[in-house]
Parts: sequence; structure tokens; C-alpha cells
Amino acid sequence: MSYRAFKRLLGETSLERKCRWLLGAGVLLLMTGSFWAYARQTEHLAYGQLETTGRALLSPIVAKWHVRGELYGAVDDFQKQLEGRWPDALKGYSAQLIQPDSTNPTTKAGPDDLPILHRIELEQKDEEFRQAPKEDAFYYYGTIRAGKSCVGCHADPDKMAQQGAAEKANPDLKENDLMGVVRVRLSTQPLQEGFHTNRALLISFAIGTSLLIIAGSYLIIRYVIVKPVKHLKEVSEAIAAGELNIRSEIQTGDEFEDLSHAFNRMLRNLTNIQDRNKKLIADLDRKVDELARVNMALFEGNRLKSEFLSTMSHELRNPLNSIIGFSEHLLSAENLTEKQHRYAANIMTGGQRLLALINDILELAKLEAGKMRLHPEPLNPAAVCEHAAAMFRPQAEKKNIDLKVVAEAAGPSVRQDAGKLHQILTNLISNAVKFTPEGGRVTAKAATDGNDLVFTVSDTGVGISPEEQDLVFEKFRQAANPMTREQGGTGLGLSIVRELAKLLRGDVTLHSELGRGSTFTVRVAARLADEPLAEFELSDEVNGAMNAGTPPAAAPAGTETAGPG
Ligand code: ADP
Repeated sequence: MSYRAFKRLLGETSLERKCRWLLGAGVLLLMTGSFWAYARQTEHLAYGQLETTGRALLSPIVAKWHVRGELYGAVDDFQKQLEGRWPDALKGYSAQLIQPDSTNPTTKAGPDDLPILHRIELEQKDEEFRQAPKEDAFYYYGTIRAGKSCVGCHADPDKMAQQGAAEKANPDLKENDLMGVVRVRLSTQPLQEGFHTNRALLISFAIGTSLLIIAGSYLIIRYVIVKPVKHLKEVSEAIAAGELNIRSEIQTGDEFEDLSHAFNRMLRNLTNIQDRNKKLIADLDRKVDELARVNMALFEGNRLKSEFLSTMSHELRNPLNSIIGFSEHLLSAENLTEKQHRYAANIMTGGQRLLALINDILELAKLEAGKMRLHPEPLNPAAVCEHAAAMFRPQAEKKNIDLKVVAEAAGPSVRQDAGKLHQILTNLISNAVKFTPEGGRVTAKAATDGNDLVFTVSDTGVGISPEEQDLVFEKFRQAANPMTREQGGTGLGLSIVRELAKLLRGDVTLHSELGRGSTFTVRVAARLADEPLAEFELSDEVNGAMNAGTPPAAAPAGTETAGPG
């Protein structure tokens, strides 16, 4: 049987078949083995009996050869009478005297006897046996060694003649010499027949018992083991098909019944969990609906916010531009008193601050909406840095601040949004110049670091305390330091810087020491992906008005649209 067939038979078949075959084969093997051993032992014992028989026959045979005359007839009769009552296995034996060096055909050793005689002579044995299965015979060889009386007679020719012996006297005969070997032939046919019957019976019993055990085990396995298992399988299939109310019913009072109870308990738990899940799903559905409603409301809110920002931009910026424009105009008039001039200057600065605040709020709203448009283009970071710093040189000179730009030459693969970088740098440089006292130093650096562009703006200004270093990036937050408070500002610049840095795939970090200065480091991707982000939904008017941090020019004097009176 091939390995596959064997595996299929025992490994990949039903439990019933597996048990039946394994048990049947095991029992058959066991019984065959034990019966075979038993038969061997019995046969050995039977052959042992043949040896004993040969041994027992030796003496009467030799004795009968010494009987002569009338006595011989009587002994022979008596013997035949006795042997008539013997069992069949013993009847028909024959005996022959064999003499080692005899040339007489009646006592000469046959070819099968020679090795035996040789062994007897060499090993000084008293008896030997030989089986001849072809002849259905068993041969017993018993030695006759010369005793005192034997020598007295067989060595003396006269005595031999007196006894009428056919055999010649042997004057050299000494005590214990080998005089001959008696070969007794016993038929093994009745024994063999007995063995055959015995074997047939044993094999039949082995097969019969194995079959009975297979049948018994089949019934036990089928009705005690497989039936409940099948039932459990049917119930599981019904459950898998959606019939959750079905339950297993096994009443065998054994472990299968326990299993069935455990199975039913598990089912009950499952249905409970399912009910709970159904409720949870219903809850979840309700929440999703709610969320959708809230989302819609948020969407609507967002739309309203955009509308509001657009309106605010339009409604505030126009009059503000007029206010700033006309106050500028007023300031240039020559007939104003000193007080009037101061008032006009106040109007202009207030208006400019308000405009900057509106611009910052709109800018942040646009960034936080995450829909700011990017314009990646090849650029030179050094030029961007220089351009931003140039805007603050007059202010720096006024305060006698040393404003320096240090820039490494960047590779040709730089692609960034120059406008946004400009916005970041102007915010940082403006702060640095603003918060650095007279005679200080502000340095703007541009460098490349692997796949990043790194801009640092450091100053020797007032610095920011450690606990405020995170806060300053939040909206409308300013450091508590009175020296920075004096400078005014909206508190939105750094929030815008942080959002812009994120937008350019980077971040901004701050290192500062109170009283010693601050360093802002902006790290952005050196190469922006080409795909533009979605557009912010503010009106074009708003977008146009909020270009890259540069405050829109004040409305020229005499603007008709929103001019005073
Ligand atoms: P604004 O400058 O308009 O107040 P920012 O968001 O740009 O708003 O800055 C927030 C605050 O962070 C500032 O008010 C100031 O207190 C602090 N700050 C920013 N930059 C510096 C700097 N270079 N040195 C010291 N303090 C700074």
C-alpha cells in the first residue's frame, strides 16, 4: 500500500473508519502474534515428546535383539500386543542398529546418518535427533556403549558362537567403547496433521475474534462517539445558516452531554453578544446620523464663517484703507497745529494696526482651513532671505541693529513656495528687529540639510522665558515680558509662521534665553511636490487682498469710494 493510500485510509478518513481499521488491524496483529507464539511452543513440546519416546524405546529394542530362540517369539507376541494399544502417533516406528565403520549393508550408516555419527563420536554424545520433514519422520539416535557384561560377551568369540549371534566377536572391545547407535524412526505425520488442525483453528479464532472486535468497536464508535459528534456538527451547521434558536440535545449522561451543555451555554452567550452588538450598531447608526447632522451644521457654519470673513474683509478694509489714506494725506498738510498733527498720526497708526490685525486673522483662517494654495518653484534660499531682510533694514538702522544675512549656496533641485517662505521670514525678522534693543544683532541664515531647507533667525534681544516658549506660538499670545509688551503687535505672527511651516512640509522650533536672545529655526522640505493643494474658499477679493504679508497700500488721497464726507 502506498504511503498516500495509507495516509488516506488512516489519517484523512472519518473517525468511524479510522477507529475500525486501527482497532481491527491492531487486534489482528496482536492475536496473530500471540497465537503464532503459542503454536510454536506447542509444536516444540510435541517434538520434545518424540525425543522422550525414542529414548524410552531404546532399551526394549536392544533387549529384544539379545533374545533368541522360542523366547524371541514370545517377546515379539507380547510386544505386538502392547503396541496395538499405543496411540497412532507411536505406531509404525522402526529401529536399526548402525555401526560406525561397518561395511555390512544392514548396519552401515546412510548419508543422512553420517554427520550425526560424526557429531556423536567427536562430542562424545549419548543421543542425537534429526527431523526429516520430507519423509514426515523424526529420527532418534541413541548410543550403545560397552558395559562390563557387554565386553565379557562381545569380546569372546566362543561366547558369541554359543549365543548364536550373527555378529562377529570383537576381541579389542573395551568398557565404554561405542558399540553402535540405534536409530529409531518415528512418523511425524499424525503430529503434522494435528499441527495443521491446530493452526487452522487458531487462525480462524484470530480472524473471527478480530471481526467481532471490529464489529463491536464499529457499533460503539458509531453510537457512542460519532452520533453525538454528528449531532453537534448538525447543530453548528444550522447555527452557521442563521438558525440561532436551535440547541444541542444530547442525553447520554457522559462527557458528550457536558459538551452539549457547554455548547448551548456558548450559544446563549453568542446570541446575547449578538443582541448587544445589534443595539450597539443601532446606537452607532443614530450617532452617525447625529454626526452627519452636526457635520452639516459645521459645514454650514464654515460657509457662514467664510461669508463673514469675506464680508468683514470687504466692509472693514475699504473704510480702513480710506482712513489710513486720508490720515496720511492730513499728515502731509502744512496748516495743521502740532496737536492736530499728532491726532492725525494716531489715526493713521491705529488704522494700520487694525488693518494688520484683519490681515493676520484672515491669513490664519485661510491656513487653518487647510486649503491654502501652494506655488512650488525653483528658488534660491539666499535670495529669499536677503529679500525678506531688506524690508527691515531701515528699521534696523534706526535702532542701530546689525542685521546680517548668512546664506549657503543651495543646489539646483530646491523647489519651494517663495511667497510663503518670504512671509515666514518677514514675520521672524520683524519680531527679531522689534524685540532687540538698540545696538543689538539680528542674523538670518539659510542652509540646506539633506532633503530640508533650514532657515534660522537669531537675535540678541530680550529673549523668551522657557515656560512661554510654547505659548508664543498660540493665537493672540504674547510674552509677559514688559519689554515686548511695549512693542505692541497682534500675537498672531508666530501662529501664522507655524501653520505656514506645516504647510511647507516642515516645522518651526525656538531656542531662547531670557535677556540673551532668541533663535527661531524653520525646517521645510527642500523639494515640494508639484500638485497644488485645493483652493481656499474665500472670495477672490479676499485672497487678492491678503498677499504675502505685505500690507496693502493705503488708498490714495481723494479716493472717491470711501473718502470722508
Ligand atoms: P506679535 O509679535 O504680533 O505680538 P507674534 O506671534 O509674532 O505676535 O509673537 C508673539 C510674542 O512672542 C510676541 O508678542 C513676543 O512676546 C514674543 N516674541 C516673538 N518673537 C520674539 C523675539 N524674537 N524675541 C523676543 N520675544 C519674541
